[in-house]
Amino acid sequence: MLTLTGAGFSALRWEAARRRTVARAFRTVPFYREQWAVAGRVLDEPVPVASEQLIDQLFRLCPLGRPFQPSREPTLWSDDGTTLRVAINAASDSRTATHAVFGREATAQASSGRRPAVRALSDRWAAVRAASGPAAARTVFDRAVVLRAVFGHRATGRAVFGRRWTAVLEVRDAMIDRRWLGRGVPYAALLSPKADVVNEERRAALNRRATELATSGAVIVGTRNELADVLPEIGAASLRVLHRAGLADALGMAGPVVAYDPVLGYYAARMPSCGHLHLLWRLFHARVADGALQLTALRRRRPVLCNVIPVDAAGAAVERCPRHHTPILTTTTA
Ligand SMILES: [Zn+2]
Repeated sequence: MLTLTGAGFSALRWEAARRRTVARAFRTVPFYREQWAVAGRVLDEPVPVASEQLIDQLFRLCPLGRPFQPSREPTLWSDDGTTLRVAINAASDSRTATHAVFGREATAQASSGRRPAVRALSDRWAAVRAASGPAAARTVFDRAVVLRAVFGHRATGRAVFGRRWTAVLEVRDAMIDRRWLGRGVPYAALLSPKADVVNEERRAALNRRATELATSGAVIVGTRNELADVLPEIGAASLRVLHRAGLADALGMAGPVVAYDPVLGYYAARMPSCGHLHLLWRLFHARVADGALQLTALRRRRPVLCNVIPVDAAGAAVERCPRHHTPILTTTTA
């Protein structure tokens, strides 16, 4: 099997990670263990399942040792913000950030992988420190920290769309108890006019934090319809819009977009430098089997999600980006 690498990607390691997730699922998670009982034999692969069929299966999708306890914890379908943070990171395009700081030569070096990028950063830092003294070096070092985070896929909202966009607003139909997206990025949910709240006054009160964050610049994430509802009331001037869509819509849409599924969360983002919809491959494995796109969540432990067919994904294919050499989602029906 051919192993292509790009930004630390290895097809062999990726598949091995999926196999480990599947083995653990069969070992510890009722939803998958039961499939052996139903089949009357040991299965090699979990039965592919459409994501909408999993919504009411949280109890069976958690490991036996750490069951879902609805009286003690909120629904697990809202993850800890990781998929959103990584999706925004992917949509921020690390090549552009590198080019802006170090010019064309470093960009070409950086694009071939993480190690050369980090080497380029530290070489440049050493050169600047030798030439200009500690004050100038400090500025370059600050940028280097940001860029290293980008290459390590640990970038924050600060690296997204430039430095002005420091917070993330997410349009939702229910509130969520979260104020940070991780890595120091402020987060606020924004309830749309269609959200289920007692009245407009209450909705305005719940949206206050989002409204405040919006004034100093933020990325706002929502579906086309949700954004049409909330943008007029929150004021679009200081906001950078990132569309959220099902896969078919995301593939057909121009501009910044992230692919979203209610069960899987955010799983792909369009990278501006190549225009392709990049799978968040460190978080998800994707393959087409039996004619359907199937995703396996590689990092999540509760719920455990294997061979899940996302909504709106008919005709999708997994390919390799010719520019970044990492997995992208495309369509076979175009
Ligand atoms: Zn690409």
